[in-house]
Amino acid sequence: MIHYRIEVADASAHQFKVTLTVADPAPEQAFSLPVWIPGSYMVREFSRHLSRIEARQGTQPRVVRQHAKDRWSVETLGRGALVITYFVYAFDASVRTAWLSDDRGFFNATSLCLAVDGRTAEPQRVELYRLPAGWDVATALPRLDAPARPRGAKPAAPARTQQFEATDYDELADHPFELGPFWRGEFTACGVDHEFVVAGAWPQFDGARLLADTRRICEEQIRFWHGDGAPPFKRYVFMLYATEDGYGGLEHRASTALIAARRDLPRQGVPGVNDGYATLLGLISHEYFHTWNVKRLKPAEFLPYDLTRENYTELLWFFEGFTSYYDDLLLLRTGLIDAPRYLKMLGRAMNGVRQSPGQHVQSVAEASFDAWIKYYRTDENTPNSTVSYYTKGSLVALRLDLALRATGKATLDDVMRTLWREAPGGAVTEASILGVVTRLGGKAVAAELQRWVHERGALDVLPALARVGVEPEVEALNLATELGLRVSEGPVTGVQVKSVLSGGAGALAGVSAGDEIIAVDGWRVRKLDDAQSWIRTGSAFELLVVRQQRVRTLQVPARGDGARGDAAPRSLKLVANPNAATRQRRAAWLGQ
Ligand code: ZN
Repeated sequence: MIHYRIEVADASAHQFKVTLTVADPAPEQAFSLPVWIPGSYMVREFSRHLSRIEARQGTQPRVVRQHAKDRWSVETLGRGALVITYFVYAFDASVRTAWLSDDRGFFNATSLCLAVDGRTAEPQRVELYRLPAGWDVATALPRLDAPARPRGAKPAAPARTQQFEATDYDELADHPFELGPFWRGEFTACGVDHEFVVAGAWPQFDGARLLADTRRICEEQIRFWHGDGAPPFKRYVFMLYATEDGYGGLEHRASTALIAARRDLPRQGVPGVNDGYATLLGLISHEYFHTWNVKRLKPAEFLPYDLTRENYTELLWFFEGFTSYYDDLLLLRTGLIDAPRYLKMLGRAMNGVRQSPGQHVQSVAEASFDAWIKYYRTDENTPNSTVSYYTKGSLVALRLDLALRATGKATLDDVMRTLWREAPGGAVTEASILGVVTRLGGKAVAAELQRWVHERGALDVLPALARVGVEPEVEALNLATELGLRVSEGPVTGVQVKSVLSGGAGALAGVSAGDEIIAVDGWRVRKLDDAQSWIRTGSAFELLVVRQQRVRTLQVPARGDGARGDAAPRSLKLVANPNAATRQRRAAWLGQ
């Protein structure tokens, strides 16, 4: 057995201390730390936060030799237990690594627990040692020695020292821990225990509402995959960290770590679902759906994960994109959001892809493969060089679902459930997806799917949406969109150009990322759209920009002049058409 004792060494310096004990070590015992965490496809070099690694056997200090950024070894003396100690700096509020402050702790084992060579298949025990008074622990990892409480006794304060055990390192790495004096609630969904902990919420946070709504999502999804059957986990834990302005989540086999803005949490006495809360419910739905789609159904390349280097797959359009399609669609099916809001969210995803020149540069299969160096390493050129396998992947799912429904033979739900039943060991390949689509929907649909996944170019979902009575309305013109610019703007910062979309009017006029646009046709601007009050859209005008401290004048030619290029795709709003002929198809699709 491998034993990790984890303690708070210095909360205000954000330092955990880890004591790793290896019984019966190898003569040359090597160990390493993962360089990435599954679900977040980027090499993050977690070992950069390790320090002061020391080893001893009994009272004998042993030399720790470092072989690579993430790898060490110790020459041991006989079979006496090897004890390795080290410190981990934990000050990343994201869900991917670790955090420690005087009021909260959080960690993934991939950041804290060195993997012991040759011993990752045996049980791995975690001892949280002498936690600060009043701190509780949340994790889906099974607890050892849950203290027996005499009948009728009051619940005791959480024990300062608690132990947990994973059957192997892979399980340990898939169970994050939340520590601190957090809010905790529980519910049962389809007979399965669920726990929801929230750290950092405002006092007026409505926990009961969050539990009730999350329960509806969980029940919808368990029924989606299993009908009346049981899901493949006995207990599930949501860990939410509320911050001023955060957003994100990471999926695990029996839990998820989430970050959300405090203002997006439901508030007591405020009914209804506003945009912020709908976003949070969408995140909860997304990560929970991953419990099946990516934690159990997996790209064949991820069996097993290799945590020492990039694990390439072309299938993130399926695992992230299809999950993104279902997150909001299942919210709609629960009734937590209505059809107009769903169509608004869908329209936003569609506009995002329509206005990304990168869709002509990379297919979603290529974007998946390159996630490690592109999606997770965004810069000002990202919209030109890559396409999101989340959003375009969700549109592929939409088109596939509508194409399957049009055959009258199947829906995408059937494809997902068939894969669930049939994928050997959960391994999914492009061929297995295409095989199921062929069987349920026919060769033609499968051939189209293959094209959507590998083609570089626009994916037009509008004709398929028209068949179910959903029509686009052109939104009011926005000058940044018209110019093919992404800007940030405000009364203090002025108009800062973040990205210049290739082929757009701004690009052709010579605008560069990093420019500050200070005037349009001689008038100072701090909000670009204000210029619509004095220029005629489509006609020529002049931009005054500051670039590297120098002021320049750039000419935007009139639209229709060849030099202006094509106007960027306008933003579209999706609305339901009242036409009775399509209403039934739409109702079948939206589950209403
Ligand atoms: Zn995801």
